[in-house]
Amino acid sequence: MQRAVRGRLVSFAGDPAATTDAVRYWPDGIVAIESGRIAAVGDASAIGPTLSPQTPVDHYPDHLVLPGLIDTHIHYVQIEAIASFGLQLLDWLKNYAFVAEQKYADPAFATRQARFFLDELLRNGTTTALVYCSVHPHSADALFTQAERRGMGVAAGKVMMDRNVPDGLRDDAESSYADSKALIARWHKRGRARYAITPRFAITSTPAQLEAAGTLLREHPDCLVQTHLSENLAEIETTRRLFPQASSYTDVYHRFGLLGPTTVLGHCIHLSEDEMALLAQTRSVAAFCPTSNLFLGSGLFDHAAMTKQERPVRVGLATDVGGGTSYSMLRTADAAYKVFQLRGNKLSAYQAFHMMTRGNAEALGLAQEIGSLEPGRYADLVVLDARATPAMRARMAAVHDRLDEELFVLMIMGDDRSVKATYVQGERVTLAHS
Ligand SMILES: [Zn+2]
Repeated sequence: MQRAVRGRLVSFAGDPAATTDAVRYWPDGIVAIESGRIAAVGDASAIGPTLSPQTPVDHYPDHLVLPGLIDTHIHYVQIEAIASFGLQLLDWLKNYAFVAEQKYADPAFATRQARFFLDELLRNGTTTALVYCSVHPHSADALFTQAERRGMGVAAGKVMMDRNVPDGLRDDAESSYADSKALIARWHKRGRARYAITPRFAITSTPAQLEAAGTLLREHPDCLVQTHLSENLAEIETTRRLFPQASSYTDVYHRFGLLGPTTVLGHCIHLSEDEMALLAQTRSVAAFCPTSNLFLGSGLFDHAAMTKQERPVRVGLATDVGGGTSYSMLRTADAAYKVFQLRGNKLSAYQAFHMMTRGNAEALGLAQEIGSLEPGRYADLVVLDARATPAMRARMAAVHDRLDEELFVLMIMGDDRSVKATYVQGERVTLAHS
């Protein structure tokens, strides 16, 4: 079945920070879609005549059509922990996150929350995410089941944690290995699903459990790995106490074989040069979570140091709900811009939208599937309106034919109200607005 989306198309052929010719813009373009994938992209004058006359065309003459946004670090089990007052990481986890996650012991609750979570992502224009589930294996089943129903490409894993957590959230090295292994067999590469081996972070795993996680990765090298690294000073202190033989926090994961090109590490704020070099050398990915880092008072991600030319670390952008304060990647890009400013740097709109689309697809190893408007990719799309609110309309009155300015208005002032439509595999999703 053929269909098409027409509008002002924006996509990226590379990183605008690295190449001059990265931005693809069709002021009146058409994405032709067949069987859920992009069949052709180009000027309406060229693509239009090639469509059969009965092809349904959704036309957005005033809006920007981009690849669906991608989130590289988010916890679907912290829906009720977002916006919890007054604490920094370790106490915040104990008092809020771990309380919220215990409710996922109930499979019916997990399913309800998975539905809400995925619908909320789509309402914010996010079509793919790398997601932390709770310790309960059925929480991962619930998420994958609901993602499959929506046709979404989601990567996720049950957290492995066998110490320093409440009883109801504790597994052990053997059971976490067996449960993760069974989930991999059930879900990894079933349709669009990808499994992420998920030791929560060093503090909540014994050496035996990190060993088990490393074994899982050796046995399934195309699985993702997700964990947290160097978010908060007290966390770093505790980690060094628990792993005195490691030369650094980053070295803890390295020793257990957990760094590599499929590994995504949340935060990476307080790293030494040696640690950044180790991440670069192993091609691991750092997930930059600006709203979370500001909200929890964790610190300012040093993007310039991380990506310096001699040994660039791969970086993704992420919300980290519920430490993060918004499901919206636009709100996240706004916070990222401010963190850059506080570090004396600039994050251009092109760079930010590249991160949210192609850059994050590359970070997750999914750039052949998603992240750009190119034939063969899934037709996951977001339609954005830079005039979604009165204040945005007033601001846009001063923007004349400048795509970068329009995108900047979207990333600084935009949120879910700017999401006019979201498409998954070429199907327009009905967005829940109440
Ligand atoms: Zn996190």
